[in-house]
Amino acid sequence: MMTVLPLVAAATTTSERVDERSRMVREQIERRGIDDPIVLSAMRSTPRHLFVPDHLQGNAYEDRPLPIGFGQTISQPYIVALMTQAIQAASGMRILEIGTGSGYQAAVLAETGAEVYSIEIVSALAARAEADLKKAGYGEVQVRAGDGYHGWPEAAPFDAIIVTAAAEAIPPPLLQQLKDGGRLIIPVGPPLGSQYLVLVEREDGRNRTERLLPVRFVPFTRGDGR
Ligand code: SAH
Repeated sequence: MMTVLPLVAAATTTSERVDERSRMVREQIERRGIDDPIVLSAMRSTPRHLFVPDHLQGNAYEDRPLPIGFGQTISQPYIVALMTQAIQAASGMRILEIGTGSGYQAAVLAETGAEVYSIEIVSALAARAEADLKKAGYGEVQVRAGDGYHGWPEAAPFDAIIVTAAAEAIPPPLLQQLKDGGRLIIPVGPPLGSQYLVLVEREDGRNRTERLLPVRFVPFTRGDGR
């Protein structure tokens, strides 16, 4: 009996706003060239409106980032899809996210069937994201409050790592926690300057780096939270 309630809740929430989500996928994501069927299906299923502040639920499927409090933002849907496709997220993968924020990107990764670990430096955000993920039916996502610079050594190595805050350089501990054949995506650049999404593919112990596109992310901060 204990498992019946969460299953029913998840079914109810993902069936809400289905039309808005399919339009979002068609007009913002497919139109811009995202074509991985796993990613498109995850974007169609994940209830983004449950990861934004209540008063912004009606704006959840618009083509833009939204404020989520604490000076942070939930990324634009297209960027979430692009990053998910770049790391080739899929069932059975173990994925680390740095910058849980609202929990939405973590939920999209979970929808692909991946096993997700996510670290958030603002402890109040980590707690809220964990609760929202659970409410939306993604209770299996592991959330931790702390500085993601150090990665999650106990759960390493990872098939993929996704960083959703802009760093001046790629934190070396994250590269060390990436499996051979794995992929890491991260916005690199100064806080308000020109940032690029960078994709790293690790092959035979070597890192191949590719610049994907210019972006604007909130800064990667250091410390033990606020
Ligand atoms: N992926 C999020 C986007 C959040 S914005 C979503 O889907 O909503 C980036 C987040 O990274 C912010 O919440 C910020 O607090 C967090 N962050 C910044 N530096 C960090 C660090 N060193 N470790 C973990 N989280 C960090």
